[in-house]
Amino acid sequence: MPYGISYAGAEADYNSADAVIFGIPYDHTASFKAGAREAPWAVRRASYNFEEIHFEHGLDQPRLELYDYGNCDDFVLPEDMIEEVNFAVKPAIRDKKFTVAIGGEHSVTVPIVQNYDKDDIALITIDAHLDSRDDYLGSPYSHACVTRRASEHLGIDNICAIGVRAIGAEELDREDVIPFVTAFDVMDNGPEWAIKKAMDGVKNDRIYLSIDIDGIDPAYAPGTGTPEPFGLLPIDVKKIINIIGERLAGFDVVEVCPPADPSGITSILAARLINEALAVYAKHSKR
Ligand code: MN
Ligand code: MN
Repeated sequence: MPYGISYAGAEADYNSADAVIFGIPYDHTASFKAGAREAPWAVRRASYNFEEIHFEHGLDQPRLELYDYGNCDDFVLPEDMIEEVNFAVKPAIRDKKFTVAIGGEHSVTVPIVQNYDKDDIALITIDAHLDSRDDYLGSPYSHACVTRRASEHLGIDNICAIGVRAIGAEELDREDVIPFVTAFDVMDNGPEWAIKKAMDGVKNDRIYLSIDIDGIDPAYAPGTGTPEPFGLLPIDVKKIINIIGERLAGFDVVEVCPPADPSGITSILAARLINEALAVYAKHSKR
């Protein structure tokens, strides 16, 4: 892709790449404010804001070879989105690349997770919402059903949501509640405690981390479709990525909504979190 369009530093070809970036511009199940389909380009643009290195990870740190796949085609029906995402991510997961996806809304995480073996990964989300409904507004693939769909593949003992502060009554009033750590408990006990609790609670060792940007407080990440007060601090999410460390298997950032982000600060944060995940993966995979 031409310079300025691909993610900053994504200069490798597919075969030599350690990590592959995917844009998934899908937002057709968005329940409140659409616009996340514009995020892959906004976050790529924001990626040019940063230094090539993040010094706190060490000046001699190995760098990842990065390939930018570009964007998946956009479809209206979630079933078509799922087929398109399968087509895009299946080879990269098979070839043991570190996959980084830029949503789109949160429903794009489901087909990515389903492409991993069920015994390979656990899903940890950062999210204001539990996203554990059986279906929402008539669709089982809504962004309000992400952890439920993922649990049907990985098992409920391989899921945990961190930063949750908005849950529907029907999500709690059932036997198989998706495990979660509230934003209030993160504030009281710290991000170190929260991520250790989540990692100790899941069965599989490798962690796929999905960051719904609304998990972070809307003061820091206002550009999202369903903002929810009382969220996590960006620095706490940075710490969480670092503590996951060598267990990090895949990563996405979803629900950035550029039309609701006139200053661009939410896309900047999303790109910085991607850089953090890439730096942490490099530190543990290339030494
Ligand atoms: Mn979500
Ligand atoms: Mn959310």
